Amino acid sequence: MSASRAAAHAVVVGSGIGGLTAAVALRQNGWQVTVLEQAQSLEPVGAGIGLAPNSQRALDVIGLGDEIRGLAAWQGPGGMRNPSGRWLSRTDSTAAAERFGGPLVLVHRATLIDRIARRLPEGAVCTGCPGELTDPGTAGGRRARVRTPDGDIEADLVIGADGIHSAVRRALFPHHPGPAYSGFTTWRTVVPAPERSFEPHETWGAGSLWGTQPLKDGRSYAYAAAVAPAGAHAADGEKAELLRRFGDWHDPVPGIIAAAEPERVLRNDVHHMITPLPAFHRGRTVLLGDAAHAMSPTLGQGGNQAIEDAIVLAHHAAGTDLGAGLAAYSAERLPRTAMIVRKSARVARLMSLTAAPAVAARDTLMWALSRLGPGLVLRTFDDIADWRPPQRTYAAGAQDAHAGPGVHKGRPARH
Ligand SMILES: Cc1cc2nc3c(=O)[nH]c(=O)nc-3n(C[C@H](O)[C@H](O)[C@H](O)COP(=O)(O)OP(=O)(O)OC[C@H]3O[C@@H](n4cnc5c(N)ncnc54)[C@H](O)[C@@H]3O)c2cc1C
Repeated sequence: MSASRAAAHAVVVGSGIGGLTAAVALRQNGWQVTVLEQAQSLEPVGAGIGLAPNSQRALDVIGLGDEIRGLAAWQGPGGMRNPSGRWLSRTDSTAAAERFGGPLVLVHRATLIDRIARRLPEGAVCTGCPGELTDPGTAGGRRARVRTPDGDIEADLVIGADGIHSAVRRALFPHHPGPAYSGFTTWRTVVPAPERSFEPHETWGAGSLWGTQPLKDGRSYAYAAAVAPAGAHAADGEKAELLRRFGDWHDPVPGIIAAAEPERVLRNDVHHMITPLPAFHRGRTVLLGDAAHAMSPTLGQGGNQAIEDAIVLAHHAAGTDLGAGLAAYSAERLPRTAMIVRKSARVARLMSLTAAPAVAARDTLMWALSRLGPGLVLRTFDDIADWRPPQRTYAAGAQDAHAGPGVHKGRPARH
């Protein structure tokens, strides 16, 4: 399957983090790209998202890495605590950045979406435009087809970036069981900075956790998780539910809950795809992000992996044999993302422990590991944060601690 670059047209279904990044990266490689978004605007949920050095390096390929690194707000110490405030493990921003080759950056989702979307030309994203895959196309040559309210579009490449409940995934792999409930629910909110400064922390209790992290704009992002039945909601509102569950935890948790606007407390059940897909592509259609490998947010990698996918896809779709390129994309991304889905589920199981002896043993282990050497706790993240994109600059084995502006030299010249 080869397509003349001059005529090659890609349709991206979904304008989340993964879809937008793919659109920018494909355009850089000479593709004409149309992004279909069913929502009326690009406004994401009002929450933060953590970007680790792996996705920052991926963003270097589209010239956005340094801009994102510049939004890092964590400076100084931080770590993991128990609900009474005792530190189970401590680290600091410098040690983490040295270990992983870059800072851990917490950004507001609206900021991230805006920074990526700005790299697309006016009109590239069609909002209020749901897309439905009607034909994935064939590796032998037939183009793929997507139905929209304005008529059918034929495409050389369709990217299903339509999130966890992906209809594109169901069309490609109708027999796959899809995502399953992970057993826990989450809350997220963004609040003004608390009056008293705090050290960024993630606090683990029995079957629940709470995290508070600073954002560069001065506000704080707070997230929580707890074992709960699927679909449950608090009759008196989620802020009241947070107070019940976390109101007696250490500072700054009660103050953060008090500052939360009730209508800005998001609650989402977590579903994940423990059974991997057989491939991420069929014919001329490919999946990325949550559509391909939804995972628990316990390692904060779902969005990071969507960004990696997008950059790897653009790399492999740049050759003349698109069929071989999509197969190479599947082969490269499936094992890595399946490993991170499994690892995220393991961390979720640890978080979900509720029996007092098991919780005490878990906390003691965490404390002991941290005393043996702070690096031991960070090391669990090594094979995730170490990742480098396949594009020339990194494939050559760049040793950079953080890929600076020089990375742009390796980018494909076509725009
Ligand atoms: C509580 C929580 C905390 C998290 N924290 C982190 C974190 O710190 N770091 C991290 O990396 N990840 C985190 N994640 C995971 C991250 O949010 C997701 O993995 C990421 O948003 C997936 O991006 P995506 O582009 O694949 O899909 P989405 O962001 O879901 O985007 C899919 C888009 O497709 C659109 N769409 C759907 N169907 C159609 C259609 N038929 N036609 C057109 N458009 C369509 C949707 O409207 C949506 O805009 C967290 C998740 C949760 C729940």
